Amino acid sequence: MSELGRADAPTWTDSHCHLQGEFLGDAIEIEAVAERAASVGVVRAICIGTNEPSSLAALALAQRSGDLPLEMWATVGLHPHDASDGVAPLLALARDGAPVPGSVGRPPGSLVGIGECGLDYHYDHSPRAVQRAVFAEQAALAAELDLTLVVHTREAWDDTVAILRDARVPRVVIHCFTGGPAEAEACLALGAWVSFSGIVTFKNAEGVREATRICPLDRLLIETDSPFLAPVPYRGTPNEPARVAVIGAFVGELLDVAADEVARRTTANALHAFALSLSP
Ligand SMILES: [Zn+2]
Repeated sequence: MSELGRADAPTWTDSHCHLQGEFLGDAIEIEAVAERAASVGVVRAICIGTNEPSSLAALALAQRSGDLPLEMWATVGLHPHDASDGVAPLLALARDGAPVPGSVGRPPGSLVGIGECGLDYHYDHSPRAVQRAVFAEQAALAAELDLTLVVHTREAWDDTVAILRDARVPRVVIHCFTGGPAEAEACLALGAWVSFSGIVTFKNAEGVREATRICPLDRLLIETDSPFLAPVPYRGTPNEPARVAVIGAFVGELLDVAADEVARRTTANALHAFALSLSP
């Protein structure tokens, strides 16, 4: 029997992916993606919205958890690239779908987060003042509805930290962490979880690896950000949740922690970070 066939083998959780049809494309089916994930022990994923249509699609996809070997939860959010579109439709969507504040053990299919939202001063697709206002509004909504805030930040650390400090969101995940140890310290000081993607495997990402080493094991998440950012040795191919096991094994080697333990700890962290309930 293979390692993953053991009854007690821990399973993996992909803390951030985009599996909606617009991201998968016509050639890839969600059933096949879910099967490939489950075959390597990846059985949970958070499906992330980036605008109104993709947030609606994330909610619809998460509702299909019962039909697939991959349990999914959804977030709704407006990406900083699209901040100029305005956040009003997302606010309505979140208010409609949010679970009772204070509840934990949110089952698959639930809305569990706001985002991805944040600041991207690298591309500046929306004016920075608009990005800040729309990010602050989504942070306030996450606080109001007791949802997890999923943060995208690029070349905007100081403003990101300032907005998060003011917002007092109960649970914050810094998605696809690309900073170094100093930025990781700032996130940890805010009480955030730090989520590492396939970037941690990239040759030129020594700063990200240093940040991984200082991140306490109870604050660390792993994600694919599928279909983007496939890890080494899959770079250049569409990413999918199955690869979170590759990223997790890499992080384990980096930290000198067994892969099983990385799976166990990052799944427990995802449970806390998104207030999930896990199947027995
Ligand atoms: Zn993403």
